[in-house]
Order: sequence, then C-alpha cells, then structure tokens
Amino acid sequence: MHTLKSASEIEIMAEGGRILATVLKRVRTETKVGVTTKHLDSLSRELIKESGALPAFLGYRSTGSKKPFPATLCVSINEVVVHGQPSKMEIKDGDIVKLDLGLRYRGFYLDSAITVPVGKVPAGASKLISVTKKALDLAIQEAKPGKTLGHIGHAVQSYVEKNEFSVVRSLTGHGIGRGLHEDPSVFNFGKPGTGDEIVVGMVLAIEPMVAMSHPPEGGRIKQLSDDSFAIADGSLSAHFEHTVAVTRYGPRILTIV
Ligand code: MG
Ligand code: MG
Repeated sequence: MHTLKSASEIEIMAEGGRILATVLKRVRTETKVGVTTKHLDSLSRELIKESGALPAFLGYRSTGSKKPFPATLCVSINEVVVHGQPSKMEIKDGDIVKLDLGLRYRGFYLDSAITVPVGKVPAGASKLISVTKKALDLAIQEAKPGKTLGHIGHAVQSYVEKNEFSVVRSLTGHGIGRGLHEDPSVFNFGKPGTGDEIVVGMVLAIEPMVAMSHPPEGGRIKQLSDDSFAIADGSLSAHFEHTVAVTRYGPRILTIV
C-alpha cells in the first residue's frame, strides 16, 4: 500500500530535506585524501544533532543485513556500492566515495546520496559518475502524475546502458515518509507504462546504482562480511539519490538546499 503525503507533510519533509542537503554538502567538502571514513560519520552525526533532526540509519536493520547499522552515514568506496560502514580506513587518492545519508525530522524520513571522486580517479570513473547523476535527473523528470514506476526505471536503465554501464538490479529505491523504506520499490530498470501509476502525494527515494561493467551481467552484486554490497566482478560503482515528492505540478526534489 502506498502512503500518500499531504501538502503540509511534504512541506515538513522539504524542511528536513534542506537540513540533509546542507549536512551532505558539508561532509562532501571533508571527503579528501587521508580523512578516515569514521571522521565523515562523526561529522554527519554532529551536524544532524545540531540541526535538531535524528540520524535515520543508526541502529537501522535493512533487509538482508545481519546486524543493525552502527553509524549515521554510509560510506562506500570504489566497488562497494551501498551500506559501507565507516571505519578507521583512510580515503586514498583516486577513490570513488559514495556518501549515503538519512535523517528523521518531525516524524518524517529523508534519504539522499552522492558520489564523490577524490583526487585523480581511474579512466572512465568521471564518466561513470556523471552518467549516474544524469540518470537520476532523467528519472526524477518521470516522477509525475500520469506516468508509471516503469517510466522511472526505464529512464535510468536506457541512459545507463546507452553509455555501456550496468544498473544494479537487485537493489532499489523506495517510498519514504513516516517509514524509511515504504512501498513501492522503485526499480532502476523497466518499461514505460508498466508498474504502479505515479500519483500526487507519493514521495519516492529514487536512487540509481550503476557499475562500470557491461550489461546485463555487469550489475551483479555480492554482500560482504560487514553487510555492505559490492559489485560482484569488482568494477567501480556510483550512486546518487534524492527524495522526491510528486506534486500536481510535477516532481519536487526535497533533498536540496
Ligand atoms: Mg540512501
Ligand atoms: Mg534510499
């Protein structure tokens, strides 16, 4: 069942989204060579606390995870695509760092992710990042009344595959609101006109996850011992995510400043 949000609930979520975007922007500037991923997590935790919001991922147990997540921020490097755990590990020159952050504000969750290239990244990595970001932009444009979830999935898949990269098929975006993960699942592949109809009041976390290997095999993932997910063949990966409300005027990105 889809829980639709009222206009006033969407305004609350937009306030929370602005906080999240501000925190993520700040953490992004700290994402550099020699910094530990733990430091980025501590910074996120502090900034969220200062803002009056609550971390969403701390203690959260996602489907398929053995343990609750121990941190505020997911930091996933290179072939690791999501759910990377902050540690004493230092960021190195050439790393592709995915920062995924969630918070809870006045009873509502917000979720957003970015991919940050650090220093001189390997050949093709910049393109991987820009294609994934553009795939998110294209998908967001489909989040309007009259379209279906298949339009969103198709927008991601067709653009990613045109660029000879692969979407990760076994992880998805999701509805979001009073729950961090609500219905529906938002697939990063599909056909226009299939799947649930998109209606006013839906709020979706749209999040293309992309591997630098060729489709269709390329997007396979494996779960590592810390519960994070990595591309099975070891390829680099990118991830961008926004929380988006469907309004009668079209999509409204909530996780922006
Ligand atoms: Mg996320
Ligand atoms: Mg999400």
